[in-house]
Amino acid sequence: MLINLTDVLTSEGKTQEVQVPIEMTSFSNGMTEYKVIEKSPVNFKFSCIERGKAQIYGKAQIVLEMNCDRCLKEVKKKFELDFFREVFAPDETTESTDDNDDQNFMEGYQLNVEDLVYSEILLNLPMKVLCRQDCKGICRQCGKNLNEGECGCDTFIPDPRMAVIKDIFNANKEV
Ligand SMILES: [Zn+2]
Ligand SMILES: [Zn+2]
Repeated sequence: MLINLTDVLTSEGKTQEVQVPIEMTSFSNGMTEYKVIEKSPVNFKFSCIERGKAQIYGKAQIVLEMNCDRCLKEVKKKFELDFFREVFAPDETTESTDDNDDQNFMEGYQLNVEDLVYSEILLNLPMKVLCRQDCKGICRQCGKNLNEGECGCDTFIPDPRMAVIKDIFNANKEV
């Protein structure tokens, strides 16, 4: 959804509060696509600090269905978005290209809510997703989820020298 900020950007001292629904049903970081399970509307507060310059405060909650990096179990990852941005009227942005980069969610005087929410999720995306802090992962031999119990696989990799001794021991036993 686009919000027209012309009023906010042109009238000094003006504040405006709006609630806008989030439209996205999935979030892709370019490699993985995550399903949006829950989402709240975004609560925006805009205030014009000087002509051509406005502050944007926003709050929203969104829950993505992600997968545990260790055991691949589905994890409902909640994002508490709480952000602050400064934007400039289009004719004011020529001063520096950095400002343009920072407000790529603006289309002229219009705020693209989906683009802004997208960049906020991206900023908050965790490096690692775990279903729980002490997730044991899956067994490399049988694929069992080790959080549900031991599988009994022998994951101990014996020292080759020990293996020789074991062979001798087994040979003796057969006698
Ligand atoms: Zn896990
Ligand atoms: Zn196993």
